[in-house]
Amino acid sequence: MSYTSYIKKIFREKISIKEIMIRGWIHKKSFNNYQLRDQVLEGGKQMAKKYVGVWAIFDEDYEEGLEKAFNRYKEAGITHIMYAGIAHTFAVHEEYYQNTIIDPWIQIDFEKNQGDLFGTKSHLINSNFDEIYLLANKYGLSLDFDITPGVSEPIVKEYPSTAVVDIEGRRSGHWMCPANPDVKEYFYKRVEDILKHHQMIKEVELDVVSLDFYDPQVVPDWVLPELYPLRQLAIGNCFCEYCVGKAENQGLNLKKIREKIKTIYNEAITLNYEQFKKQTDTMRGLFDIVRFIINHAELIDWLKYRASVVEDFILGIRKLVKAIDPTIIISNDLVAPSFSWTLGQLYSNQHRLTDMTKLMLYHKRIGSFEVKPLKRIQKAIPEIDDQELMEQYYRLKGFSGPLSLAQFEKEGIDVENVYYEVRKAKMEVGQGHDVIAGLVGDLPATPDDVRAAVKMAHQGGADGYMLHLWYHNAPKENIVAFGEQLRELGEIK
Ligand SMILES: [Zn+2]
Repeated sequence: MSYTSYIKKIFREKISIKEIMIRGWIHKKSFNNYQLRDQVLEGGKQMAKKYVGVWAIFDEDYEEGLEKAFNRYKEAGITHIMYAGIAHTFAVHEEYYQNTIIDPWIQIDFEKNQGDLFGTKSHLINSNFDEIYLLANKYGLSLDFDITPGVSEPIVKEYPSTAVVDIEGRRSGHWMCPANPDVKEYFYKRVEDILKHHQMIKEVELDVVSLDFYDPQVVPDWVLPELYPLRQLAIGNCFCEYCVGKAENQGLNLKKIREKIKTIYNEAITLNYEQFKKQTDTMRGLFDIVRFIINHAELIDWLKYRASVVEDFILGIRKLVKAIDPTIIISNDLVAPSFSWTLGQLYSNQHRLTDMTKLMLYHKRIGSFEVKPLKRIQKAIPEIDDQELMEQYYRLKGFSGPLSLAQFEKEGIDVENVYYEVRKAKMEVGQGHDVIAGLVGDLPATPDDVRAAVKMAHQGGADGYMLHLWYHNAPKENIVAFGEQLRELGEIK
């Protein structure tokens, strides 16, 4: 085994730096690239510290100059870097994709030429991962691999059969179903293809594995106006043949569930002021939701079943990753616990599925996405004033924030929500499972906003931190502020 591979292997064993040094020293007799040795050891010292990472955009860093960007991350105490769309930079070995209808080039070509919400990725796709990896390592940065197994407009467009199906039988133009065998096979094999050809990868980050309601941090423009909380409590998907078959095999009374959801869904799309008031006047607090659930108990089976579909998908990835190399860390990006269940994500089962949970709550940015369905409700029912709509939204999610739609869109929600959501997450994952707080570094967040969010996450008990910059043109001062605040709290040196 080469010195580099050996060092990388022992890093993953979570032993002390001293022991890495001693073992490395013994091993180095057969290793003569001293520069690389020092580089790897320096990288190792950084990585053994508290988990501090960044979700960054490669093309922005590339245009600025990678070393300059890497140096800034290093100065901010960052030791892990996840580039948006990194999965598309790796070569495709065709033999891996024989048993799925999905052609990997569909997504790669799309990302290169058009790009999703997070922009085009042409520099990233044309770069060599191994070279960037070594360069990042020089700055103590572990460059790893993030994959988003579930959302892809180009794949769904090409293969509509892979999409989730709602209660009306409509297929999504956006979300794939994690129970679909072609979807599973494609993402499993993509992960396997990448890991087997890049043995230096130490972490696989799963980004929003979920069963569609929608991801509140990237709400698409076409999301339909449906009254809260009916749509969330009686989620109309997925009713694809695989989900239906699996649910029936598990003994769920799908006929009854369907009828129930259909009835509630019809209420949710009855868009008049009286119907809106009926919800806001009778669902005032937490106990009212319990009242609703007791009257519609089948919905619990359904919500739990949806979570099991997501769980099965992740367990499959876990099995294959750990079979390739049991020391590779699997992390999972979840939305905030107050509403993650709407996506089939449960914090309570994470310890069975992954090694680390990353909680994403971009408090300054979430309003610009979450306002979309609210605006459409208000457009359909013009009598509703902003305050009524926002008060209901906050009551249901347990959030606090501005009471006008315009301000919510512009400023997002209050920073205290970061504290509450991290607390909930920590409590729910249980002992021995780390929660990494994913915080907003994108506009409109200012350095003060970043500092406040870091403090709240720390107070909530975060085991580590990630700074989110994927929405483009994040102020560089926010990265600096992130590091300064972590240093002030003693989280990094
Ligand atoms: Zn399905």
